[in-house]
Parts: sequence; structure tokens; C-alpha cells
Amino acid sequence: MKSPEATALYPDGNRGCYVLVLHLEHAAKVEVGALGSIPFEPGTYLYVGRARRHLRQRLERHMRPARRRRWHIDYLLETAAAREAYVVPTLQECALARELAAAPGARVIPRFGSSDCRCPGHLIRVASVPNLGLVGGVPWTRAVSPGANGVLAINSG
Ligand SMILES: [Zn+2]
Repeated sequence: MKSPEATALYPDGNRGCYVLVLHLEHAAKVEVGALGSIPFEPGTYLYVGRARRHLRQRLERHMRPARRRRWHIDYLLETAAAREAYVVPTLQECALARELAAAPGARVIPRFGSSDCRCPGHLIRVASVPNLGLVGGVPWTRAVSPGANGVLAINSG
């Protein structure tokens, strides 16, 4: 049964873009599929993804510990867990990634998550999590990490 919260979070047929917030506590070299070994500085990273369908399930997958490696982000998630995610009812993931990368102090991890597009990358190291309300011109919803049942809770703040 759909909860009212789930309906509010995914107003457009359970699809859209999302931003995962990852925190890396220590410097780490991570093998990322075809990209090879990438050195990551400690800090906060934003990953911009898109789900044409099953957005909710995608987020739940990203936040589960054990997973099959399919996307670049799957490799990094083994080192830096995603504890927070934001969703937005648009499919313009590349525009969002570019906008986030333009923030002061932001740095793109080259080619990460952008195998299928011409973006510099969909993973961005940021000095701090930006005010997403100013990004993309679309309303964002905050989703927090799932509870034991795997369902995302809503935090409207
Ligand atoms: Zn792109």
C-alpha cells in the first residue's frame, strides 16, 4: 500500500533525478570499474543520478550495503555510504550535475557516472552541501536513509 509520504515524495510516477550525499572520512583509492583506481580525498561528495522508473527502489538499492556492481557509484558506495538523498521531479540529470559542479569550491571527479553522456562527471566533491532549493529551478524533496524495512522516510525540513 502506498503511504501518503511516498506519494508526496514521488509525485511523477516514481521517476526523476536524485542526489546522493556521500561522506568519505579518510582518503581512499577506489577501483571504479573501467575508470580504474581513483584517489578520493576525504570530504563530501554529491552524486547525481536519474531513474526513468523505479526511483524509490533505486534509492533503496543505493543505500543497501550489499549490492551487485552495476554503476560507477556502486564501487564508491562500498567505501563511502550514502546516508542522505534528495529527489527532484525532472529527468535533466546532466543539467543538475553541471549546476552543482559550478558551485564555489566544487570539483568534478572526471568521467564518474557520465559514461553515457558528455558531462565532465556526475560525481562532485563539494565544500559543503549546497542549498538545493536554488538548483535546477525545481522543487526538491529530502529523503533520509532507510529504516530496517528499507522504506525511505521523509524529512520535510
Ligand atoms: Zn551527464
